[in-house]
Amino acid sequence: MAEPTAPTPMMAQYLALKEEAGDCLLFYRMGDFFELFFEDARIASGVLDIALTARGEHAGEKIPMCGVPVHAATAYLQRLIKAGHRVAIAEQTESPEEARKARGSKALVNRAIIRFVTAGTLTEEALLDARAANWCVAVGEAAGGVGIAAADVSTGRFEVIACSPQALGAELARLAAAEVVAAEGSDAPATVWRPRGEFDSARGEERLKRLHGVATLDGFGQFDRAMLAAASGLIAYFDHNGKGTLPFLRAPVIRRSAETMAIDAATRESLELTCTAGGTRKGSLLDAVDRTVTGAGARLLAADIGAPLMDRVAIEARLALVTLFHDDGDLRARLRERLRALPDIGRAIGRLVAGRGSPRDLGQLRDGLDGAWLLAETLQSIEAQLVDGAGGDLLAQLTPRLRGHGELIDLLKRALVPMPPIDAANGGFIAEGYDAALDDLRDAGSGGRKAIAALEARYRTETGISALKIRHNNVLGYHVEVPAKNAEALMKPDSGFTHRQTMAGAVRFNAPELHEVASRVTQAGAHAVAAEAAHLEDLIAAALGRAEPIAATADALARLDVAAGLAERAAEGGWARPALVEHPCFEIIGGRHPVVEAAVAKAGERFVANDCTLSQSSRLWLVTGPNMGGKSTFLRQNALIAVLAQAGSYVPATSATLGLVDRLFSRVGASDNLARGRSTFMVEMVETAAILAQATPQSFVILDEVGRGTSTYDGLAIAWAVVEAIHEDNRCRCLFATHYHELTRLAERCDALSLHHVRAREWKGELVLLHELAEGPADRSYGLAVARLAGMPPATVARAKAVLAKLEAGRAKTGGLAAGLDDLPLFAAAAAVPEERVDPLRAAVEEMDVDALSPREALDQLYRLKGIV
Ligand code: ADP
Repeated sequence: MAEPTAPTPMMAQYLALKEEAGDCLLFYRMGDFFELFFEDARIASGVLDIALTARGEHAGEKIPMCGVPVHAATAYLQRLIKAGHRVAIAEQTESPEEARKARGSKALVNRAIIRFVTAGTLTEEALLDARAANWCVAVGEAAGGVGIAAADVSTGRFEVIACSPQALGAELARLAAAEVVAAEGSDAPATVWRPRGEFDSARGEERLKRLHGVATLDGFGQFDRAMLAAASGLIAYFDHNGKGTLPFLRAPVIRRSAETMAIDAATRESLELTCTAGGTRKGSLLDAVDRTVTGAGARLLAADIGAPLMDRVAIEARLALVTLFHDDGDLRARLRERLRALPDIGRAIGRLVAGRGSPRDLGQLRDGLDGAWLLAETLQSIEAQLVDGAGGDLLAQLTPRLRGHGELIDLLKRALVPMPPIDAANGGFIAEGYDAALDDLRDAGSGGRKAIAALEARYRTETGISALKIRHNNVLGYHVEVPAKNAEALMKPDSGFTHRQTMAGAVRFNAPELHEVASRVTQAGAHAVAAEAAHLEDLIAAALGRAEPIAATADALARLDVAAGLAERAAEGGWARPALVEHPCFEIIGGRHPVVEAAVAKAGERFVANDCTLSQSSRLWLVTGPNMGGKSTFLRQNALIAVLAQAGSYVPATSATLGLVDRLFSRVGASDNLARGRSTFMVEMVETAAILAQATPQSFVILDEVGRGTSTYDGLAIAWAVVEAIHEDNRCRCLFATHYHELTRLAERCDALSLHHVRAREWKGELVLLHELAEGPADRSYGLAVARLAGMPPATVARAKAVLAKLEAGRAKTGGLAAGLDDLPLFAAAAAVPEERVDPLRAAVEEMDVDALSPREALDQLYRLKGIV
């Protein structure tokens, strides 16, 4: 076997860079291409559907290779990032000429990784969804606590979240981060692991202080060690990805999970708040509510809906602003018209801070800030007319943030052309009249171009060749070109022309006079481009000096857009402003489900509005009725109304009064959820266990057919026990839909439980679903009628009828499925068994710290208890 030869110098350089890139794909710059080698090439060629070739040999094997042109790299990057990869960009850090000068004719060009492109650290417009935030999250752990640091570097939003280990899953679900970073060895659900030393709370404090130029963090609020550890890990990750250039990070906002309604991952998924089970925005609550007209507004609305508030004052402030725009349709229309025209200044400043800004971003700032100023004028005149509490409080906070950029706007207006380009390399973005010297250079350039045109005319007359042209290319610069058949005259030594190149049909020449004029043009052009570049730097510096106030203006615009959009939605759908009260009631009159309503309307039918009036004496509703009767829809619409109300939105109802919901839970029986795979019944039980462990009297719980993922007896027994526990222990507001009729017997023993059903009627042998809620239990299950409705063959339905009759006859004899339930002691009584028998069990229960349990652990505990019994 041949001894493997040492790698070529280029390969050695490549391998060293690849070592640094780690598990990122390495884009290795070679001239006009980024090349990928080895396994990277195999992966990228597959994802990008480009040719996999080979180049040279390494260790006796051909090296797989593929490449993408530099000018089209963004599109390829986008696809790789979407497919879940991270990419390290290795650029040439000197020109081949510089390399030759410094290290001889065969010298290899120096290269270095200049940046890591990852899903959570993007700022490019083309790589981001304008209407969605892009979070990068780090999880820190210290002293048994957990902290989250989350940043959307495209706009500089930076949150540090105090969190318990139990709430971690819910917070991560809320953020739906593009990347989750954690320390190596951590069991957080991370996508990227970084060295443990980067998640150090003391270093976190230092990093935050340095980042924001402060001597103490007290001005931001109270950080605990886990929060600082998370901030440290996040900043270190950004530092690593940007190779020392940090993205835009605004002052950290401290949040605590208790400030918002707790919504765990399963509930979020089941209610399809911001994204459907299928992973699309379309069909979600957010999509049904969103009438915003700017990307920033859409992003803020998604954040609001994902994190309903617990602070009544803050909710009322948001609602008051919505009311203001709701009641004044003219104002709303004008405001939305103006907002619609504004560029996304939040993301423009994000790109500028990250060092990836362009003249166009400055143009966007100019137009956006100018528009914000105009808006402030309009709003201020309104504000003056408002009495307190009529939406004025929040408005009075927002309007001042819309202005204050006068100097910067003036500067950008004077300096920039109306539509600055994205690419700064060729200049052309500084306006005429901004810099006299630059104007002179440009004049010289255009004067030169005129001189060239004159020269062309003169050469034509002098040579008598009417097809003579003066052309320009990168190799020859300016030159004279004539058709081959006319070339002979110019070839003569005394013609004044010097031959440069013979092509198939044409011959190219140089001429001294042309050379002189041309070098004037090129030089003036080069100087003009350099002058523009210097101005660009100054203008960017001026914008960066105001990064924080610009971001605050962007926030204010987004808040106005959200309020006006919600007002628009409310006006469109006849929604009502919710009234928030102190006691845990829930009185919805004429409630509707915004997503189902739209679907029903599309099918040309009418959505039936339903009331839901939970109170202390009737806080648990058991809803029965036929399949497809509207039970799930009813449950969900009420959960969604709670979310909307606390997010500061009007709600789809005639009227709504509710006490704040601290935790919202939604669980759907396993058989509706087969798509999830795994043991679905197990999942259902784990999730239900979490409710029993966490729901408080302020919580709102919807349970849809819980217990049906197992055998009838098991399922009924579990459903029965769950209802009892919620009624006796959790004492939360709860809607429970079930097809176990036997459960209706619980009404006799649970005084705050009441029975409801969705109405249906058999008419001429057909089942008519009325989708209307009524009091009392359903009188029968209508299962066979539903089967017929679903198109089951009449013979099969007839056969099922016969089987049913037999079963029912049997039930009459034995007392049926629920036989014996009447003798069951009360839930509370069940616990009062003689002490010597329950001792170990009681001890086990008492030592359990229910608050500290994850759903998983709760289930383990259940198994342990089972073992004791
Ligand atoms: P269930 O949970 O009782 O099986 P669903 O809530 O899933 O029933 O509703 C089934 C279908 O009935 C829905 O997809 C919708 O088309 C229709 N529907 C439900 N509620 C209503 C309503 N209030 N008004 C009109 N149609 C409704």
